[in-house]
Amino acid sequence: MNTEINEFMEALKARTPGESEFHQAVEEVVETVWDVYNANPRYKKAKILERMVEPERVIMFRVPWVNDQGDVEINRGYRVEFNSAIGPYKGGLRFHPSVNLSILKFLGFEQTFKNSLTTLPMGGGKGGSDFNAKGRSDNEIMRFCQSFMTELSRHIGPNTDVPAGDIGVGGREIGYLFGQYKRLRNEFTGVLTGKGTNWGGSLIRPEATGYGAVYFVQHMLHEMNQEIKGKTFSVSGFGNVAWGCIKKINELGGKVVTISGPDGYIYDKEGITGEKVDYMLELRATNNDIVSPYAEEFGAEFHAGKKPWECKVDVALPCACENELNEEDAKKLLANDVMMVAEVSNMGCTAEAAFLLTDKTTFAPGKAVNAGGVAVSGLEMSQNSMRYSWREEEVDERLKIIMKDIHDTCVRYGRKGDKVNYIQGANVGGFVKVADSMMDQGYV
Ligand code: GLU
Repeated sequence: MNTEINEFMEALKARTPGESEFHQAVEEVVETVWDVYNANPRYKKAKILERMVEPERVIMFRVPWVNDQGDVEINRGYRVEFNSAIGPYKGGLRFHPSVNLSILKFLGFEQTFKNSLTTLPMGGGKGGSDFNAKGRSDNEIMRFCQSFMTELSRHIGPNTDVPAGDIGVGGREIGYLFGQYKRLRNEFTGVLTGKGTNWGGSLIRPEATGYGAVYFVQHMLHEMNQEIKGKTFSVSGFGNVAWGCIKKINELGGKVVTISGPDGYIYDKEGITGEKVDYMLELRATNNDIVSPYAEEFGAEFHAGKKPWECKVDVALPCACENELNEEDAKKLLANDVMMVAEVSNMGCTAEAAFLLTDKTTFAPGKAVNAGGVAVSGLEMSQNSMRYSWREEEVDERLKIIMKDIHDTCVRYGRKGDKVNYIQGANVGGFVKVADSMMDQGYV
């Protein structure tokens, strides 16, 4: 790391002590955009990077609710409104016990560049709560969502800040949140995305993150004169994102041999196909974070307490959470001659793992690979503004075009000889548009 970057990071760390995930995300971006930043004295004079790492607004609030036993429980709610240079704040809500300010700041920061890459007019934001849905009843989840929205509603709006889902927030939670917003504001607007298709949601939104990721991987493979057909994949997680990836890979003739949960991973050499894909979602719907019953149901191998990165596959797709794939895991994948690793989770690899994989194989970061989810959220916003809905094929077609554009941007800014550095490409491509928009709008 050069001394200027070092100084920049030290100053940031001094102002934001303990926010390790946020520092990790900033460092990766700053290192890759530094040359572009330095080459433009106007950026430096306007302190573009210093401004970019400071969220425009952070809201933290109490979320009191009553559980089924009649006891009061208290959680903490957040919304980090990071950057509105290119559009209203946009990004998901995460409900998970690990949620804290550092995680939401890293996610909101990444979201700014991701949204910029989508070509759509969306700023960056993220929010959520340390609420743990595990073992909670449907009524408890509804009461929690209603209390959360009672406070959040005063900070968001279809032209201000448009939340969506993330880990722990799916269609059910978006429904409860939307219902409460509508009641409080007496407005039926596109204030949230990921809505049900009967009430303003977009077709393909549930599949979009996974489908978009696979379209992106298709372009990466084409760069290498390869295709998905006949390739084996390892996938981690077993939620909505993993589900979308698996469905699309199956459709394109690839084979997914793993899924995982906190209890371990499943290795299914026959491939996760047909009814097995639906069963995976049923497991998720139980609110218990376990995949082991899959093994019993379908006679597959279950590896307790392990991660799927020890399996030999052509392509690895981390689809669970940040830093789920570390340097040791990367070495295992490389020892098994992995051809490509594409992060579908946000910052799914540690900095060391991402560096090693970029050096030794082909690697792409989450902010490019998983941008299809928020891109279709953007398309949902467009449909809501028009009070119209596009057919499934129309949305899918637009998603394909957006993923190709993102890939082209990565190649344009990240080409190094006959290889593409996708981290560099995504960061510089995302950064330039946000930076130039901030410049146009003065020192705000
Ligand atoms: N949580 C998703 C992401 O990380 C989607 C956000 C959205 O649709 O606004 O991009």
